[in-house]
Amino acid sequence: MHLQEECFLDCPYCGEPISVLVDCSCEQQTYIEDCQVCCQPMLLHISVDQEGMPEVYAQREDE
Ligand SMILES: [Zn+2]
Repeated sequence: MHLQEECFLDCPYCGEPISVLVDCSCEQQTYIEDCQVCCQPMLLHISVDQEGMPEVYAQREDE
């Protein structure tokens, strides 16, 4: 099992596909990460399932 997985998602601001590295050792995480394209702060909600596969949901910080 990998400790870090790369996840792909669309930026909630500019809609560009971006990738984030997720630490799979923690089941539930919420943190802010700046978009690699438009540099706006995205709120990332991450949950890791029993197989260690992360699911990422991105939200605008101002929502
Ligand atoms: Zn963006």
